[in-house]
Amino acid sequence: MQLLFADQPGPHFDLGGEILLPEVLSQFSKRNYHRQKAHLILYAIRARARDARVSSPKLDSYKQLVGQPDLATAVSPTSREMLALAEHLNLELSPARGFCSSSEDWLAFRTDKSPRLENFYRRQRVRLDVLMEGQEPSGGQWNFDHENRKPAPKGGLGLQHFEIVEDDLDQEVRETLDGLVAQGKASFIGLDGPRKFAGTREQALAALSHFIDHQLDAFGPYEDAVFDGEWVLAHSMLSAPMNLGLLDPMEVVRAVEASYLNGSASIQSAEGFIRQVIGWRDYVWHLYWEYGEQYLESNFLQATNPLPDSWSDLDSSLIEANCISKTINNVSENAWTHHIQRLMILGNVALQRGYDPRAVNDWLVDAFVDGTPWVMPANAIGMSLFADGGRMSTKPYAAGGAYINRMSNYCGGCKFDPRIRVGEKACPITAGYWNFLAKNEAKLSGNQRMWQSLAGLRRLSDIDLVVDHESKRQSL
Ligand SMILES: Cc1cc2nc3c(=O)[nH]c(=O)nc-3n(C[C@H](O)[C@H](O)[C@H](O)COP(=O)(O)OP(=O)(O)OC[C@H]3O[C@@H](n4cnc5c(N)ncnc54)[C@H](O)[C@@H]3O)c2cc1C
Ligand code: SF4
Repeated sequence: MQLLFADQPGPHFDLGGEILLPEVLSQFSKRNYHRQKAHLILYAIRARARDARVSSPKLDSYKQLVGQPDLATAVSPTSREMLALAEHLNLELSPARGFCSSSEDWLAFRTDKSPRLENFYRRQRVRLDVLMEGQEPSGGQWNFDHENRKPAPKGGLGLQHFEIVEDDLDQEVRETLDGLVAQGKASFIGLDGPRKFAGTREQALAALSHFIDHQLDAFGPYEDAVFDGEWVLAHSMLSAPMNLGLLDPMEVVRAVEASYLNGSASIQSAEGFIRQVIGWRDYVWHLYWEYGEQYLESNFLQATNPLPDSWSDLDSSLIEANCISKTINNVSENAWTHHIQRLMILGNVALQRGYDPRAVNDWLVDAFVDGTPWVMPANAIGMSLFADGGRMSTKPYAAGGAYINRMSNYCGGCKFDPRIRVGEKACPITAGYWNFLAKNEAKLSGNQRMWQSLAGLRRLSDIDLVVDHESKRQSL
């Protein structure tokens, strides 16, 4: 009998025989998860358990699986915790699925002279023969990033994103979660539904088709845009069904490639999207295993500030800065924001304000519907917080309010002014940027890529005032 982990309900994890998919509600007591995340996971388990080959006992703990006589196989799980369990149970493990490269492909890549994302991505394109014309990349370039940085037009993109119609199972799941809360067995953050993300294979395929038909062509140019009033824009919302094991990333990639080949999507959109999946997604997956548990303790910038309550409780009413408040509100309402809100608003603020990297990592895993132990370390500890001192990214992703003002429509509705560094209207992102550079100048001065930013810092005549003002700022 195959042990199926909760993030393996899709057909690509099915080894063909009898399946055991346990429902372990005590997992929700461990931390304060977003309500919609708990809902989606439980919905997906129960929907998969409707298959006649699947039995789904309700267990208090995974430990109860010890001694189950028929349990023999599993597909390698996605976390160190579940791998330890599988090994403890002496299961015969088949190699991990749900990614576009194997650990052997990764090892071969790691012998490369420059093991950065761009090289990994190009190797993946060639090896998988995706968007290739012979040995040359389709469209004559590997990368169309410079064409993919447009802010949204004044009225927004006006695209329809995929929407779920809830069913009876949602109601049943809601009652179970309400029961856990009433019994004091779980405490959730964020607003309850309606559910926004696919929880069955059918829903996931419908979400993929919707993205291809209605959003993909706009994905490239508006990949980095942020727009108050349109929380999805042209993003796919497919990280959740992929990370939950409902969609195989290669089927997503082939569908996007087909859309380019039949003329429905431009090369810059198809390439921009495929880079995220065969490039970034696989890259952070392999780094999870390569960097190991210790990576979570990295703290190069010695950042020790706790997360503010407004973040831990997802209470946007406590936040004055419009960009941060709206982003935290998006997380509360949807358990999701798109990449630029994660990296350039939440990540940027956490970096500037010196929030403890481990706390940020864990909060992101718990608060985001697509958050998993494997996806977060490289994205949070590495890319967003530079806590690894540059092992993963070559420089910190720090930016001031000018960037937010260029890429979003948040600043117009804000009590602060992105151009101002000191005083009542001083933008906490702009002042926070200079304050961050001033405080970490010694640690960053050896980094070639920070040279220009640090030269800018040294030209600021009012930097002492900025640092003093930011040290007294009560809230953001
Ligand atoms: C601080 C921070 C936290 C993040 N947390 C998560 C997370 O919890 N789960 C998650 O899957 N991604 C995470 N990402 C990466 C990225 O932001 C999300 O994958 C994306 O926003 C999900 O929305 P989407 O499916 O609409 O993506 P799209 O914009 O439509 O992108 C397509 C796909 O590319 C993949 N992808 C793109 N960038 C990355 C990346 N950096 N790492 C891994 N996959 C990537 C995802 O599978 C995504 O579905 C995080 C990034 C940062 C900077
Ligand atoms: S002015 Fe500053 S704080 Fe306000 S929305 Fe713009 S960047 Fe954010």
